[in-house]
Formats: sequence, C-alpha cells, structure tokens
Amino acid sequence: MLKKLFWMLVAIGVTIGIFSGEAVAKKSDTWIIIHAGTLMADARKPPRSRQSIVIKNRKIFDIRNGYISAADVAGAEKVKIIELKNRFVMAGMIDSHTHVTEQMTAHAREKAVTTTESEYALIGSVYARRILNAGFTTIRNVGGPREAVFAIRNSIRKDQILGPRIVASGYIISPLGGHGDTNGFRPDVFGTPNSGICNGADDCRRAVRDQIKYGADMIKYVATGGVLSKIATGTGQQFTDAEQAAIVQTAHMMGRKVAAHAHGKAGIEAALRAGVDSIEHGSYLDEGTVKLFRKTGAYLVPTLLAGKTVVDIATNKPGFFLPEVAAKAKRVGPIMAHALNIAYKGGVKIAFGTDSGVSVHGINGQELVLMVKAGMSRKDVLIAATVSAADLLGLSDSIGTLAKGKSADIIAARANPLTDISTLLKPDFVMVRGVVAVK
Ligand SMILES: [Zn+2]
Repeated sequence: MLKKLFWMLVAIGVTIGIFSGEAVAKKSDTWIIIHAGTLMADARKPPRSRQSIVIKNRKIFDIRNGYISAADVAGAEKVKIIELKNRFVMAGMIDSHTHVTEQMTAHAREKAVTTTESEYALIGSVYARRILNAGFTTIRNVGGPREAVFAIRNSIRKDQILGPRIVASGYIISPLGGHGDTNGFRPDVFGTPNSGICNGADDCRRAVRDQIKYGADMIKYVATGGVLSKIATGTGQQFTDAEQAAIVQTAHMMGRKVAAHAHGKAGIEAALRAGVDSIEHGSYLDEGTVKLFRKTGAYLVPTLLAGKTVVDIATNKPGFFLPEVAAKAKRVGPIMAHALNIAYKGGVKIAFGTDSGVSVHGINGQELVLMVKAGMSRKDVLIAATVSAADLLGLSDSIGTLAKGKSADIIAARANPLTDISTLLKPDFVMVRGVVAVK
C-alpha cells in the first residue's frame, strides 16, 4: 500500500515537472500567415481574391489585402507562411448534430451491453479526428455515454488530443421506455436506466440538472419517437407538453440551450411551444409548423444524411435492422428532404447537422450535397454550415466566420463550393484553433 503511494507521488512529481518545463519554453508568440487565393471570410458575403490571414497565438490577428510577408506585420517573429494561393479558403464547418462515440452497426443490441465507457472514449477520439479531417472544426454532440463524451471534449480542449471543438449534451433526456432509453433487454441484463431518463415535470427537471452538474454544455431531449430505437411506438410525441416545458425552462434558467429530437408534427410543435432552440430532424413538419418555427425563432437541423443512410441500409442490407426499425426507416427517411424544402421556402432558420454516427464519421460533407439537392442554394448551405450553426451553438464570437479575434478554424478546398459544393467532401487543408490537422 505504502509502496503504491510512493510511486503515485513520483508519477505526480514527474508530471508536474514536465508541464512546468513546457510552460516556460512556450512563452514566445506563434505567428502564421496564410496566403489565400480566394477567401470567403463570411459565407453571407462574396469571397475576395488574394488575401492574407494573419494568425497570432492560434487566433486571427488580422486579414489583409494581397499576399503580405512577415515584414509587413509589426512585432511578428518567426512567422510560418502557409501557401494556399490556388485554393478556396473559408471558416471551418460546424456539424450541429453528431454522436461521436457511436457508429451504427448490425450488432447494436450486443454493443449496448458490452461496450465500456473507456472503449467509447477511445474509439470516439478516433471518430472525432475523422470528422475534423473532413473539415468540421466544431461539433455539437447530442447524446452518448456522457463520461466518454466529456472526456473527449476535455482532452481536445486541453490539447491532449487533436480534434474538433465539442459542445456536448450529456445523456439524452428521454421518457422511460422512450426513444432515448435502451429497450428490449431482460431487466437484469440492462440494470438501472441512465440519469437522462425521467417521468413527469419534476423528475425531468432533475434529469436536466443532473446533466449540467456533470458537465453538459447544452441539453438534448426526445420530443417524439425515433427511427433507430428498438421500440415499435412510431415517431409520435413521447414527452407531454408539461414535461417539455419543464425541460426547456430548467435548461434555460441554467444558461443551457436545448435541442429537441422530433419527427412527428404534434411533437415538433409541442417542442417549439416549449421554447426549444433547435428541432432535430423535423421530418413531418408542414406549413403550419413553419409558421410556428418563424414565431419562436428556433432552428431546424435537417440531418438528411441520416435519412439517406437508414433508407439505404433498410433497402440493401436485410437483417441489419430489427423489423420494426427497418419499417420506420423506410417510412421516415424519404420525407426528410421534403421537410427541409418546405422549411427553407418558408424562411425557417437552418443549421447544418448530419447525425454522424448513424452515417459513417468523416463523410459529414455529404450533407452539403443533399441540402443542395433538397432545394437550398449553395450559398445558403454554406451559411447553414458556418454562420448559422455558430449562432445556434452560441459561439458566434469565436467561430462561424473568419475575423479579427476569432479562432483560427480554417479549411481550404480545390474548387469554389459556391459553384461546386462537392469540393468540400474532401478539404485538403484543415486548421483547428491554429493547429494544422490536414495539409
Ligand atoms: Zn441523433
């Protein structure tokens, strides 16, 4: 016992020694200048050619006309120049709907009772890197094993691993037996439900507060049934109006935004009336729902890639899903693009989100192509993936556009996405918080 304690103290001493040594060595400023052939600093405005982005200590220090050199920046020393003269440069994209610890498999039921929190954290950090490499420098993770998700988020924040900035929800708030619960096991196999499961307004306040206590940046709840849960309840409303009001009110009182998973019309409208900040999926919305969206100012996060993925699998891979899940997938998947089209034409605010984890991590950019196919202009799709998603996440001060004082989250592609959106399927330069991830 004493021997163990001794070695622990040695380990702590070594750790502190290393870190303090590093802190001393890191004192001088780091400078980078990016020469951008075409720069779209703000997706709402036209891009400009021949621009220089000056980065100091991982933040944008200035953006100047023409290709400047180190000598043009007063006080800059040991400047690294990055040449992107034949590239289209823009702000890193933001995926507002991911499940970074998950990857949908045909063995979902076995996985649910065999994968440990540590395994989720390890594999999730690999998935996070894949999403970053695809040009997404920030993600909003809307549900998963919270200890693992928070660990990945914190390790990225502390520069222990490289990944996208993560805004995380903790456990999904769900009614017992609902879409966010795990269903279909013998009671002794599954044990106690996680702390996100609640019934009644008071208990749901407890569930929200519990997520915040353990580190949630925002709250996600299920207003309606979902496609992938092993439960044949369809996609109608699952929480009562009173429960939804309690969830949203409690989260907002504690300074957290709220995302509601919602497919059925009644459930979407209940969530909007409760005051949610975003509706995820929104499959069965109609013109009436659009009016309510505009009244409350909530965002729609369309997740078309999830719809496409589950339809493809239900059609081409028999046995992958349980029969009740396959039936829901074929029913709900095809209508999601139609819902986005109605919402877009009706002037609903739209933020980019894929449901990555249902789809394979790293193909997140395919959502851009699907949004264009659903009727959005390329420019509006780029706004949804940058400016609007930053606003939804409450991070407009630091991400979403490239401007003085903002984080150096920068990507580049070979072609102009305003004419060829598919160029963003594989960005060939990615920088997150001033660190180059892909070049
Ligand atoms: Zn989801």
